[in-house]
Amino acid sequence: MAVEKRSRLDIQFEKIISVLVKIDALSEKVARNISTPDCLEAIVPRLLEQGVDDVLLANALSEIYHCDLYQDDESYTGELIRSTHDKCPWLISDSILYVTNPYDRDQIEPLIRRKKDAKDHLYFDKLGVLAMSDFESDDVLRANYDIATSVDTTGLWAKEFVDNLLNEAITRKASDIHINPESHGGVIKLRIDGRCQLSNIPDIQTISIDRYRLVANNLMERVNKQNNYLEPISGYLVYQAAHKHVSMRLEMAPVKVFTEIKPKITIRILNNSRAISRMDQLGLSLEHVGILKSIGRRSNGLIVVTGPTGSGKSTTLKSLLRDIRDQFPEKSIYTIEDPVEDQLDGITSLEVSQHMGFSTALKSLLRHDPDVIMVGEIRDTETAELALRASMTGHLVLTTLHTNDAHGAINRLVNLGMDRALIAENLLAVTAQRLVNRVCPHCSTQKMIQNDEGLRATYGDIDTLTASGVAVPVLNENAGCQKCNFGYSGRHLVNEIFINDRLSEKMIAQGHGSNEIKFAQQERKVFDDLWDDGIRLAILGVTTLDALEVKISPLHVARNRFGVEKSRKTEARSDLTVDNTELFILDAIN
Ligand SMILES: [Zn+2]
Repeated sequence: MAVEKRSRLDIQFEKIISVLVKIDALSEKVARNISTPDCLEAIVPRLLEQGVDDVLLANALSEIYHCDLYQDDESYTGELIRSTHDKCPWLISDSILYVTNPYDRDQIEPLIRRKKDAKDHLYFDKLGVLAMSDFESDDVLRANYDIATSVDTTGLWAKEFVDNLLNEAITRKASDIHINPESHGGVIKLRIDGRCQLSNIPDIQTISIDRYRLVANNLMERVNKQNNYLEPISGYLVYQAAHKHVSMRLEMAPVKVFTEIKPKITIRILNNSRAISRMDQLGLSLEHVGILKSIGRRSNGLIVVTGPTGSGKSTTLKSLLRDIRDQFPEKSIYTIEDPVEDQLDGITSLEVSQHMGFSTALKSLLRHDPDVIMVGEIRDTETAELALRASMTGHLVLTTLHTNDAHGAINRLVNLGMDRALIAENLLAVTAQRLVNRVCPHCSTQKMIQNDEGLRATYGDIDTLTASGVAVPVLNENAGCQKCNFGYSGRHLVNEIFINDRLSEKMIAQGHGSNEIKFAQQERKVFDDLWDDGIRLAILGVTTLDALEVKISPLHVARNRFGVEKSRKTEARSDLTVDNTELFILDAIN
């Protein structure tokens, strides 16, 4: 019997793998490296962990099962019902039960039983498949929940309430959950795309005064902490959501509400992305994807990603690691993180703790025969030193730094006490990035720069923007509709890449600062800054110029500074000419 079961699993697994390879959702190289899961139900989670695109996976499943694939049809007006907190979410639309994992009988069978119960209002007569990301579509987000909530006032109610809250935060890709005590009870807000807002589900917008402690107690239990609420505490919890474990950090502070002390709770969601994106899904220009991929193929050197907190630095690094893993399954890849966020099969992660800082972890790791190492953050000289040494001795090291722009990494490394010659020799590239808000297409209009006095005044001298036929999105007067938050919905990456070419290497070694090296590259037209990339996105209709002003730095600041610098340099050019020509020749030879 066991043999038969095993072989059925093998057959099913081979079948789906071959369909995925056929539709280009998996390369043969990656497919060969995926081990067979231990049961049928685990096939879908295993493939998602491997980073298979969820939409392509749903396509493959519907092909194998000969069943309907969910289509996000905006004109559809019938009732949609969605699951609340199943491990595998489902959706009923138009008498079809759509599931994300058709192999999971434990999920489907209870629903079939419930269908027979007339009181339950679940109607369907066919099975279909939908992709995990369909749960983020506007229509599904507005679907009615299949609420089977008990009216118990004890801990059971609180458990369901917290489960619903965490699921909603995960589905809507919130970064934080705020539970704020007020005199009448509690108010819950989710931070989505950088803005705090109430949930769409009325049941989890507020907590009545008599139930506030129940919710707080339940959360304290989940982080294994005592609940006297007299001193601040923090803790971690791992929540099992659909097909993935989501880790969260909880902070509690006792705050005073009139005469009472009550717990204020904030939960940060640490790895709220479905899977690690491929490089080409990050939203980078094709040119930048090509540059990063080719740098990832190097066997040694240092790659740095910079940007403010929350700008998606580790997402970029992880997808670069994913690309390296897929290209070179034979390389051993490690990460050191604080805390470990999204995990990928084939990549081993160490978590920094009280007992093991970045430098201790890195020292230990170097004895484990690594090829590629990602160091979550370089904060001190010792780690910087170790990372740079590792990059000299046959390891590709990826890390992040906090600097304003890509070239700023040079000054930062020098300030950390690194030797200029070593930086010059080993630094491969630095990318700086920001996340800008995506403009909502439903409540914005396209405008030509020439036709708007305000826009012309600020952007009139940028050729790409004033070219004929070019228009950029502008928010309507009362921006904000059903499909967005105040005219924006979701975020998009803007980036710049500093490639440490021969000329820049020479300048670093000679003691030139970040800005000088940047201006030299801009003059040689080998560097496009964040604004160049942002303007590209505005022209593509992804974001507005206003959103770029907020996230990058105002254009007049970013560009004027350069303008002043440039004119100063032009004046002094005569005595620099010889040196410059020499450098240009050197660059050409190299
Ligand atoms: Zn809108």
